[in-house]
Amino acid sequence: MIASKGYAAKQPKAILAPWNFERREVGPHDVQFDILFCGVCHSDLHQVNDEWAPGIFPMGPGHEIVGKVVKIGSAVSKFQTGDLAGTGCMVDSCRTCDNCKTGLEQYCINGGSFTYNGVEQDKKTPTYGGYSNTIVVHEDFVFRISEKLSLAAVAPLLCAGITTYSPLKYWKVGKGHRLAVLGLGGLGHMAVKFGVAFGAEVTVLSTSPGKEADAKKLGAHKFVLTSNPESIKETTGYFDFILDTVSADHDINFYMSLLRTNGVHICVGIPPKPAEIPAFTVVGNRRSLVGSMIGGLPETQEMLDYCATHNIVSDIEMINIKDIQKSYDRMLKGDVRYRFVIDMSTL
Ligand SMILES: [Zn+2]
Ligand SMILES: [Zn+2]
Repeated sequence: MIASKGYAAKQPKAILAPWNFERREVGPHDVQFDILFCGVCHSDLHQVNDEWAPGIFPMGPGHEIVGKVVKIGSAVSKFQTGDLAGTGCMVDSCRTCDNCKTGLEQYCINGGSFTYNGVEQDKKTPTYGGYSNTIVVHEDFVFRISEKLSLAAVAPLLCAGITTYSPLKYWKVGKGHRLAVLGLGGLGHMAVKFGVAFGAEVTVLSTSPGKEADAKKLGAHKFVLTSNPESIKETTGYFDFILDTVSADHDINFYMSLLRTNGVHICVGIPPKPAEIPAFTVVGNRRSLVGSMIGGLPETQEMLDYCATHNIVSDIEMINIKDIQKSYDRMLKGDVRYRFVIDMSTL
């Protein structure tokens, strides 16, 4: 076993603290890479607080992981030591179901292995995430990372990036479309960048006037303050797509009224309470309410390559791992522009 160290929550809602644990030895198909940076995702906080299904503790969070390969297994063909590498929200899947066979590993019918707070495909060995010094992953679930971009700013692409790239691609959002991005946080700011790059007219919908300047700086064409009845009147029935990145409770019916006929409301945030949607919300104008979760292996690599070609990265604030709890508190208040990334040399 490989002696490893990181930060973990010993039990639900615990303050994250230094923690020693073990990674498996590098198998024939495995890549071991030392973690240089790890993004801080809102779902890290949800899971440490045990707000979803009962979690596995101790929990070492982190699924926006980038670093440098230090060891490869005898059968590994994709990497050499010294290469940059990254891993996102998944470290394995069954590889045999219809979804896995078509590159939709995130929807693995037999249950994929999530990077932390999950189990390996033996269904019993717990997985530990990227708030740590090193990780061992099957090469299929390790992505190639371009040397061209700032490595720290690439880390959030592995969750926030693919979570917004995948639905925009699936629904072919681009030239001639009016796209609204609901919520300007970690996911939202990436949605703006991709929407603009794909040629759509991008509008940021927000409840905070303070985000207007940032929205424009990120490339958004328009900004609508949803608490202002006048600007809302102008955008009723206006959008082809709404990409809803909000993970707090909100009234989806209100936002769907901003869609034109055949408009699509795409959920990627996960609010704690179930939404109540009267049939008229979707029946009235043949509108659709849909969802999307991260992305599969081929699409994640495609997204990383697209970002390298188009010079797209996340806007980040680098933190010392000792300040992780402070960054959680700030994330809860929406006080982050737009993703915290842990500098793992501070571990
Ligand atoms: Zn995430
Ligand atoms: Zn599968």
